[in-house]
Amino acid sequence: MSNKQIIGFDADDTLWENEVFFHQAQLKFIELHPHIKDPEEVIFQIEKKNIEFYGYGIKGFILSLLETSVRSYNNQSDFQNIAKIIKIGKDMLAQPIQLLPDVKNTLHHLSEHHTLIMITKGDLLDQQRKVKESGLLKYFSLIEIVSEKDEQTYLEILEKNNISPKDFLMVGNSLKSDVLPVRKIGGTGVYIPHKLTWKHEEVDSTFDLERVVELKTISALKVWLKSQI
Ligand SMILES: [Mg+2]
Repeated sequence: MSNKQIIGFDADDTLWENEVFFHQAQLKFIELHPHIKDPEEVIFQIEKKNIEFYGYGIKGFILSLLETSVRSYNNQSDFQNIAKIIKIGKDMLAQPIQLLPDVKNTLHHLSEHHTLIMITKGDLLDQQRKVKESGLLKYFSLIEIVSEKDEQTYLEILEKNNISPKDFLMVGNSLKSDVLPVRKIGGTGVYIPHKLTWKHEEVDSTFDLERVVELKTISALKVWLKSQI
């Protein structure tokens, strides 16, 4: 691979912690609603249906929790719980950035030899805040905050920036959003799993994992890239 290679990075759960805060918020919600049976599944089904209206991110998640709460009281409201859910959301939006291990030095090193871009999906304002707070902005030539990460999105980003798919490598914790669509358009996807990954980002088990480049940590990227030359 040449120095012309462009490396794309997912952000949530690839560069910094994210899913863990959704998980903690969900646990708080469940404590407030002990009467809901199989609450994780109930919340997930409502979230999944709402993606097409709200997109990804904290705002949509909180609206789904409010909907789950209201529905659980047969369309009545428990106003104390409503206030608590709103507070859970505001706390999430104020959550300080926690970079994952070795992110900073890996990006520092890679940015000396490659062009790095960040491609992340979610609430525009919240993703912008996290990018700014992360202190990682200086390593990236381009930041793209998109509403969905599918083949079309990647093609548009690459075309707009005159990047050929064969020179493009995407690194992320989601097979569904970071690896599969990039591979389908002729690029390379590098999968770095995170211990917590949202159910919606999972792919079905018939998917051929053998063809996926999987690394344990982000710091392994340096060595792997060298082995590809
Ligand atoms: Mg991610």
